[in-house]
Amino acid sequence: MMTKDNIILNNDGEPITSPRILAMIEARNKISDDLRFPPVTNKMTGLREPTPTQWLEKYFVFRTAVQEPTDEECKDYYQRINIDDADDINRFRGALLGTAIGDALGTTLEFKAPGTFDHINDIIGGGPFSLKAGEWTDDTSMMYCLAHSLVRKNGFDLKDQIDLYCRWWKDGVFSVNGKCFDIGNTVQDALSRYIRSGNPKSGDIDPMSAGNGSLMRLTPIPIAFYNSFEDAVSYGGLSSVTTHGTLEAVDACRYFSGLVWGALHGVSKEELLNGIYTPIKGYWEDNPLCTSITDIVNRAEYKTKKASEIRASGYVIYSLEAVLWAFWQTSDFEQGALAAVNLGEDADTTGAIFGQLAGAYYGERVLPFKWVKKVKQNHIFYLKAQELKELVLQSN
Ligand code: MG
Ligand code: MG
Repeated sequence: MMTKDNIILNNDGEPITSPRILAMIEARNKISDDLRFPPVTNKMTGLREPTPTQWLEKYFVFRTAVQEPTDEECKDYYQRINIDDADDINRFRGALLGTAIGDALGTTLEFKAPGTFDHINDIIGGGPFSLKAGEWTDDTSMMYCLAHSLVRKNGFDLKDQIDLYCRWWKDGVFSVNGKCFDIGNTVQDALSRYIRSGNPKSGDIDPMSAGNGSLMRLTPIPIAFYNSFEDAVSYGGLSSVTTHGTLEAVDACRYFSGLVWGALHGVSKEELLNGIYTPIKGYWEDNPLCTSITDIVNRAEYKTKKASEIRASGYVIYSLEAVLWAFWQTSDFEQGALAAVNLGEDADTTGAIFGQLAGAYYGERVLPFKWVKKVKQNHIFYLKAQELKELVLQSN
């Protein structure tokens, strides 16, 4: 790309006049190269090489033309365009996109008390941050930071993770619209402490600070540690302590990382939710969870509770129960996601946590395409799935 007297020229030397494209170029230029924030095609980069997600243009045309293809038809199409069609990456894509979809869906109802709003049935934006339909919030931005760190550091690096959270907070990188518009108090306090102390384990250890802010971003961990349940669980817990150091938050991440790990491996819903999931006999006896989590999971009251008996506030134990409830009581992604966000309260985060698990479980090929298409910057999640798979293959 060349510029001359503030006129931006395309690859053929013609001036670009579209305000939409100029705005995208301006946004792109604010982001440094080491963060690799690729546009969906190579049109904006000024480069002639195809970007790793250029195939999505073809794929999205197929998904638009063939209304609700079956899982098999969709898999066939992946084969025809010579893109990885394996079940593992299908579930990786599902988990990452699922987070963004649930978040974008729920943002409309965030902070609304139950019984005070009409239920939604689509991604419509609005909400406390007046977002456009398909824009996502802090949950997905932090998930994106975590995925990016795992990829660029070739593994788990707590300091790099919190450095990227700070980049998001201070510079708006990893945000859907280039601004950090909704950081939670627990996260902001922890990042401030880190900037002062340099200690990446800056999460509050006060039991009253057991928010859902580390659970909401978790899913890149069980993907990256796809080859080891034990690593998925222990790094899941450790990933919490940058911002949430208290036992319930850490243990919620340990439990949920193991659960998503099982979903990524195609374990049935009945087995995932029959007690505390583990593929290793005696694992949880040797590495116990706190009782507030084991009570919810083992008593399994969520399997029969009504929506009015479920809370979806920012307390991590409530978030966990709300997600298990929505996942168990529905049989596809769409119904479950709507059930989760229509609980209100911390709706975007309940949606994002639901989306991690259900996206992993059902897989990308059967996610509602009307929602995949609506999610802004959706190509990022396909790209990160691909990069995380490369990481997994290296660790074989
Ligand atoms: Mg949010
Ligand atoms: Mg939230």
